[in-house]
Amino acid sequence: METFHSASALIAARKPEKPIIGLRPHAAGRAARWFLANFPGDIAYAYKANSTPFLIGALYGAGIRHFDVASLPELEDAKTIPDVTFHFMHPVKSRHAIRRAFALGCRSFSLDSEDELKKIVEETGGAHDLSLWVRIAVPAINAVIPLQNKFGITGAAAVRLLTKTRQVARSLGISFHVGSQTLAPEAYASALSEARKLITRAGVVIDGIDVGGGFPARYSDDSQAPLSDFIQVIRESFATLPVASNCRLMCEPGRALSAESESLIVRVDARRGGDLYINDGSYGMLFDAAHLGFTFPVRLVGREVRDPKALAPFQFWGPTCDSIDHMKGPFMLPASIREGDYIEIGNTGAYARAIAGKFNGYGFYDEVILKDPPIYTMYGDEAVSRPVALAEAGATV
Ligand SMILES: *Cc1c(COP(=O)(O)O)cnc(C)c1O
Repeated sequence: METFHSASALIAARKPEKPIIGLRPHAAGRAARWFLANFPGDIAYAYKANSTPFLIGALYGAGIRHFDVASLPELEDAKTIPDVTFHFMHPVKSRHAIRRAFALGCRSFSLDSEDELKKIVEETGGAHDLSLWVRIAVPAINAVIPLQNKFGITGAAAVRLLTKTRQVARSLGISFHVGSQTLAPEAYASALSEARKLITRAGVVIDGIDVGGGFPARYSDDSQAPLSDFIQVIRESFATLPVASNCRLMCEPGRALSAESESLIVRVDARRGGDLYINDGSYGMLFDAAHLGFTFPVRLVGREVRDPKALAPFQFWGPTCDSIDHMKGPFMLPASIREGDYIEIGNTGAYARAIAGKFNGYGFYDEVILKDPPIYTMYGDEAVSRPVALAEAGATV
């Protein structure tokens, strides 16, 4: 794969016909090292966010040794990664998936119902070496993508499930997910306080607390709580839990470890006033921009403009014939932008490639490696509030 200093250098050298994925494995490595240095527990990368070998290699190279998989195909795909622990954290699994995952050596499963517990016990032949995580429902607080309506158990049913799971698990944990792209550190405090209530009511020994994913990426220069605030809140809340003294913490970041690892470089195929028709869209890597209103950071690449600070708002239309292939933005770009220009859409490493389909003949990409930093980062000097965390993070890379 070819390496360029930046997307601008790439466009100066060639005029690609297909959209380009610009990989920044160095940014993924930096994110992983930050989590390893600052999170006081195991870091399980949520494989579904992006499973390209370059990203997995960068995370592994940085020291990530736990993976959260959410389906059997993910586990089959990831199983050749040496010396790692897999956690099958989808609370609803088919019997075949449980049996096969167990045969592949997976011993860690999540569940949120007694039916699922029964399935796990039956399909693992009543194994005595299981780590079972009871997924509880927690309120989403300032999450861009709330997840609490689909999974998780609460109240008396959760207490009963904790008690029943304790009887068969070698290690009993509680897990939750506060919602993806959670901007409020307090969301973790409130989830852990929910966990505290359930543990107290159930009166069972808890060996693991999994705070899930949800750690935000940075998509703009708006002020945003730094990741160190999230870790601080988790540390403080965890310290108040009535759990075993050797209870382990775990987290499952997907977005936070992958977002900065890729950019998407698209071409403008037509301009109509404030509307730019580009060669990738909602059926490709821009699902989140179309359907969740994400305004990814953008910049014009490969052409100098006289006043790069004079920006105007644009909306994007994708290449398919479908009118929902529309990204409202606003995306701020030079007012002189025109047909044939290229745009770097930054921090698309999380979920974008994983979701992209091939509708209407699009969704094919070329890939290059880029050496420059991502447009925005959560891991640079300015993104870390506490000096101590800064030193640990080795924040220069
Ligand atoms: C998707 C998912 C994650 C990752 O979430 P992010 O918001 O990307 O960090 C973690 N855990 C589980 C169980 C998930 O389903």
